[in-house]
Amino acid sequence: MTSAPPAHGGWAPFVDPPGVLVVTSAPWETTCTAVRMPEGWVVVDSPVEPGEPEGLVGTLRAQGGDVCALLVTHADWDHLLMPPALPGVEVVLERRTAARLEAEGPAIAAELAAFDRGEGRAARGLPRPAHVRVVEAPDTFTVGGGTVEVHPVPGHTADGAAWLFPDAGVLCPGDYLSPVEEPLVAAGGSVEDYGRALDLLEGLLARVRVVVPGHGERLTPAGAREVLERDRRLLRRPGRARSTAGADP
Ligand SMILES: [Zn+2]
Repeated sequence: MTSAPPAHGGWAPFVDPPGVLVVTSAPWETTCTAVRMPEGWVVVDSPVEPGEPEGLVGTLRAQGGDVCALLVTHADWDHLLMPPALPGVEVVLERRTAARLEAEGPAIAAELAAFDRGEGRAARGLPRPAHVRVVEAPDTFTVGGGTVEVHPVPGHTADGAAWLFPDAGVLCPGDYLSPVEEPLVAAGGSVEDYGRALDLLEGLLARVRVVVPGHGERLTPAGAREVLERDRRLLRRPGRARSTAGADP
């Protein structure tokens, strides 16, 4: 483990809007977003490579302020790796994500272990956050002294939470609206729910300035709308939405 950010990561802070920082891991261009709230940083999801979560915490502290909460978009392992770098920090899970972690924890851990072994290193265990707050989407609540909305977006998987920061104008939809991945309907998800998730996300775009998908470059609302229309077309093509278990997250 190292506390220094790995050289390959995209660790540059956003310039616009200010107070938002996104890092991108090399595998699948997985993103982790931090939004500055009145009482500190709120982090969404996680980087992927060993050492990167600790590196992100160091980067955030260097910017000023501590991390006061961690939000999770869904219970695929590549979004769950932040808690060991944030001991004692509250982890906010949407109800379906908490349920999926409870039911599928060992299977999710096995996928993480397989990834690590494939990279030729010792397998990490799946983090078990100690301080969990469960919320049920849709909801609006206070975290870090500011307002956060959670919107229900199952479809890619059986769970799915889109986190919206109304003051910063940031939307973190999880594995939707990705410019680098086609719609993936994994085990537990459904094409119908996926379509409903896109409808819901479309309605949120007018309220934000930036969308940070779970994989790939951040998007303007107009850019996100283009990806959304592409994904609708792909979902309509028979057999086009990939339906797999154990594939790339
Ligand atoms: Zn993912």
